[in-house]
Amino acid sequence: MTQPAQDLPPIPAPLTQPESDFYWEKCKANELWLRHCKSCDQAYFYPRDICPNCFSRDTDWIQSSGQGTLHTFSIVHRGPTPVFRDRVPYIAAIVEVESGARIPTNLVEIEPDPALIKIGMAVEVVFQQLDDNINLPMFRPAS
Ligand SMILES: [Zn+2]
Repeated sequence: MTQPAQDLPPIPAPLTQPESDFYWEKCKANELWLRHCKSCDQAYFYPRDICPNCFSRDTDWIQSSGQGTLHTFSIVHRGPTPVFRDRVPYIAAIVEVESGARIPTNLVEIEPDPALIKIGMAVEVVFQQLDDNINLPMFRPAS
């Protein structure tokens, strides 16, 4: 049985960048926001000023519904670093949200059993507080 996360040493927090400060501020409020390109009308992840689809700088922010679908996943049985070794098995995933934006994340609140996890399943965002500055968005099966 996997140890409860609160009994484990913390995972390394993401290093925030000026381009993503707004994103992390909204995550602290348990809101998921995406960058959006006004030229090609695509949302994208990770947050950056230049659209990866058309390279426009005419971008803004949109609030995600937090609803998405599981694009792909992998059940991790060997942690890449000591802090992750005690967490296995866990589910590394890519979730697709508004207009095809894909977020690398973890799938949580489901057993890491490939018979239970389905590509395309509906998922919803949940936030895990890492420290005073970072609430990390993760996804669970939609209720
Ligand atoms: Zn664009």
